[in-house]
Amino acid sequence: MVLPRRVWDYIRSLLTAGEAGAEVRGWRFELVSPRYRYRPAVSEIATYCPSRRDLYLKRVEGVPAQQVEAARRGVVLHEVFLEPLRLASRGDGVDLDSLAAARRRLYRRLGVRPSRLLDRVYTMGAALALQMIIDGDTPVAVEPAIPGAAVGLTDVVKPDLLVGFIPVEITTASPNSLYGRRKQLTVAGYALALEAWMGNPIDYGVIAYLRERDGVPWLDWRVVVLTDDLRRAFLRARDEAAMIVDTRVDPGAAGEGCPDWCPYRGICSGAGGGSI
Ligand code: SF4
Repeated sequence: MVLPRRVWDYIRSLLTAGEAGAEVRGWRFELVSPRYRYRPAVSEIATYCPSRRDLYLKRVEGVPAQQVEAARRGVVLHEVFLEPLRLASRGDGVDLDSLAAARRRLYRRLGVRPSRLLDRVYTMGAALALQMIIDGDTPVAVEPAIPGAAVGLTDVVKPDLLVGFIPVEITTASPNSLYGRRKQLTVAGYALALEAWMGNPIDYGVIAYLRERDGVPWLDWRVVVLTDDLRRAFLRARDEAAMIVDTRVDPGAAGEGCPDWCPYRGICSGAGGGSI
């Protein structure tokens, strides 16, 4: 099952209500073909930066991102959650002992010490991984490689999970932040790439917000209906990102809404970068 029962039930209720049915599909190349030469990654489109200046600094100016602990924390939690699912998808005879050994190896590779939070996040991922093996009724692919060029994306895009034909994004962003809301663009982009590749309609995506309070993590599952409005918003954001790199025009610092953990915060608030 992997996705909670309530998520499946909600998707079924939307199907019954006829909520799906978009015109802008990945196979309609007259609508989705790229308008610029640069083909951004999905993460560059659904960026945390309100003005997309992070993309300009990285791709045009070649400014290296500064190491920010809060940003690294999100990457670590994401990795810790996904690793057991990766192991299960390889089908190497995963059991409780091998999952525990893999956790020790992962912590060493990430350079982190065991903690109650990390162990609990790993356990959540491991529980889903075991469920994936036991159920086996819905095919689940972990970070499948999907061609993205047909819809103006990088050569390959990789959703965290593909459950049946439903792209699933796992994120530590808050659902109420700009970054968290932009995750809807992420699943729309994956859906368009899948549609272009396979010719099957993808009407829903799922975002699992990995939340935590006082060392206790939980998953906040949200179903995203892939409406025409959302698909067009994704294409506009894709073109905006590509234009920044092609024209090499600095969009400027955002002014407000920058996350504390932005690795370019020191650049944007310094000389020549505008004020945030
Ligand atoms: S500091 Fe703000 S404007 Fe600059 S890259 Fe970060 S989020 Fe974007």
